[in-house]
Parts: sequence; structure tokens; C-alpha cells
Amino acid sequence: MEQYDVVVVGGGIAGSVAARFAAEHGFATLLIEKRKTPRNKSCSGIQFPYLEKLVGAPIPPDKLCQNELRQVEIVTPSGRAIPGQMKMLNFWRSTFDSWLNDVAAAAGAEFQDETRLLDFQPDDAGLDLCIRADGQEREVRARYLIAADGLYSRIRKQLRPDDFGPRATGGTVNYYCMGETSLDPHTLYMIYNVDLAPLMFAWAYLKDDQWVIGTGANESPRDYADRLWAYIQERYGFHGEIVRKEGFSSPLVGGIFLGEGRLLFAGDAANLVDAHRGLGMDNAALSARQAVRAIIAAERNGQPAADHYQHLMKSLVHKLQANDSKQAQQFASNDHLEAGLTPASLLKGGVLMKLASLANTMLPPERVITLPL
Ligand SMILES: Cc1cc2nc3c(=O)[nH]c(=O)nc-3n(C[C@H](O)[C@H](O)[C@H](O)COP(=O)(O)OP(=O)(O)OC[C@H]3O[C@@H](n4cnc5c(N)ncnc54)[C@H](O)[C@@H]3O)c2cc1C
Repeated sequence: MEQYDVVVVGGGIAGSVAARFAAEHGFATLLIEKRKTPRNKSCSGIQFPYLEKLVGAPIPPDKLCQNELRQVEIVTPSGRAIPGQMKMLNFWRSTFDSWLNDVAAAAGAEFQDETRLLDFQPDDAGLDLCIRADGQEREVRARYLIAADGLYSRIRKQLRPDDFGPRATGGTVNYYCMGETSLDPHTLYMIYNVDLAPLMFAWAYLKDDQWVIGTGANESPRDYADRLWAYIQERYGFHGEIVRKEGFSSPLVGGIFLGEGRLLFAGDAANLVDAHRGLGMDNAALSARQAVRAIIAAERNGQPAADHYQHLMKSLVHKLQANDSKQAQQFASNDHLEAGLTPASLLKGGVLMKLASLANTMLPPERVITLPL
């Protein structure tokens, strides 16, 4: 039977980063991805520059979109537009994740795409895994398993079936559009209006030659997306067409779960998406790093890796839980939103963001302040 120190399931952000650091530390590491790569992933592909620090490698410019995002425009429910400076990374997940797969492989991880985890059995010393590639099943032994298999995590479902509802409700929708518009190609538009986006801001921005217009909702997200599209057409004189629609929803209803024993969950599989900030890739990369640190600590002192991981993830989990309740209050109604988006509060927020961004250039990756605050 093939034997590895660490098997990582899922070749997205969390899995690739985990595999890279595990291999770099000298662990015999296998990274498997069920789809053929480069694979697309429903995602807006927007992040703060500190993501580079979290993934631990300089991002080659050709892995980013041609149009840089340098500004934001916050639009309040009454239609006020508040501009600001904010540099964001902008990339296609197919390109970016494939590059991260290569980074993991260059660090020494064995990367296999079109390879799917089917089953696992944990014991005190590790896990027996059943994986399928090229239509054939094979057994693999891992001393540690990092589950980075996303919001539909098969591993989590096997371990904790009650964390999943009978069907996915709600979701996030992106419309990719082409045409003429007064939208600025270097601006990320954040539209706050519960009639267009009841959970967080709706967004509009350019990705190379396509405008991305997106929103999320617990129920009927496509209805919200259609209203948002009509709003964008009217407000920004958009004359053009929708060339592609993508959506994503998940039946994962359990909260954050980080794992047990030698099995650690990272990224979306651990449910680390921050709905308040509308971001999950930074948490995916950060949790991947911490999962590997936890395994290193477990090797040193014999305590379960999951215990170390819980400890290392404490402040991130706390922040996510706090953001959850902040978000519920802020989006109670358009009046609440409008009242919260005053020039004074936005100015204060902007100053704090600048300070945090500056601090992030100096802080070690594990202590990065995730933004926006
Ligand atoms: C519409 C939308 C827009 C978003 N926009 C942003 C954004 O702009 N910025 C941001 O930071 N976040 C955004 N997010 C969230 C972000 O996409 C996720 O938080 C992020 O992808 C999590 O990365 P991950 O590595 O944990 O999971 P994923 O990227 O989902 O990767 C999981 C991988 O595991 C593989 N896999 C699953 N099961 C198996 C198996 N059994 N065997 C082998 N492989 C398997 C899957 O194929 C997949 O490649 C958005 C999400 C959505 C839905």
C-alpha cells in the first residue's frame, strides 16, 4: 500500500497551500484533486494583496487579470456613491489554483488531478484511504489527512452527516457580462442594498474583458441577481449582454468544524467562509498553514494534531463568529445599512484599513489582519 505522511484532499487554495507547506517541511505529501486541472471554481477571484503572504509565494503577474483594481466605490441604499482607494488582487480561479498546484508540486508534493477520495477509515496511527484515478480504486495510507475538499466536503459528510441539510438553499450568483458601460475598469463597486443583496454587498467589476456582477441570498439568489443586473444597466448605462452565469450553493449547515485526531479540515470544508467580508480564500490559505503547523507540533509532542489546530485557529474562529453577528445586525434593513454607511464611519473604516494594510506588510503570515475589518 502507498504510504504518505500527509494526504491533502482538494486542489483549491486550502489544499494547494497545505500540500506546499507540508512538502516543504519534509513530509511525504500527496495532493489529490478530483477534477481535471486547470479547473474552474465559482468565485469572484478578488482578494487583498496580503493573500500573497498567506500563500507564501510571489504571484507572477501573468496569473492575475490584466486590469488592476485600485479603487472602490461604495454605493449606499439611497444611491450615494463613496469612492476610496483600495488595491485588490483580481484573478481567475482556474489560472490561480493551477499555479498553486504547481507551487505545491515544485515544493515536493506529489500532485494528482482526476483523483478522487472515495472513503476513509481513521485509527490511532493514521487513516486508510480509498481513492480512485483512471477508473481504478486503490488503497493509500496517511499518517495525517487534511480535508480541503470545499463546501461539499465528502469527508465531512462521512464524519458528520448532520452538518448537511437535505438540499442546498440560497447561494451566490455571478453574471459575466460584456458591453459598453460607464463602470470604471479599475474600480470594485460594492453595492449595499438589501433588495439587491440581503446578506452582504453586491459587487460589480471588470475581469479582463468581462464584467462580473454578483450577489448572494439565502433564498432565490437568481431573483436578486436579475434585479442587480437591471440596476447596473440603469445606473451605469450598461448596454450589453450576459455571456455566462455561474452559481454556487451548498447544503453545509453545520458551523465551523476543524477536525479530530489526525484529520484536519481547512478552508471551506471547515466552513471558514466569512459572509460578512464576502471572502474565503484568505481563510482557506491561513487555515492550511495552521493545519501544517499543527501537524508539526503534533509530531514534536505526541498530542493530537486537531488539538493544536484548534488552538492555532482560535482567533480566526473568534473573528468569524463575531463577524457573523455583526453582519446580521448591519443587514437588518436598508435603513440600518444607510445609517451605518455615514461619511464619518467610512472615513474611520478607511483609516483603520490603511493602518491594518501597513501592519500586514510587516506581520508574519499567521498574524495577518484579515480585511476589511
Ligand atoms: C460565487 C462566489 C464568489 C466568491 N468570491 C470570492 C472572492 O472574491 N474572494 C474570496 O476570497 N472568496 C470568494 N468566495 C469564496 C471562495 O471561493 C472559497 O472560500 C474558496 O474557494 C475556498 O477554497 P478551498 O480551497 O477551501 O475550497 P475549493 O476552492 O472549493 O476547493 C476544493 C477542491 O476540492 C476538490 N474536491 C472535492 N471533493 C474531492 C474529493 N472527494 N477528492 C478530491 N478532490 C475533491 C474540488 O474539486 C475543489 O477543487 C466566493 C465564493 C463563491 C461561491
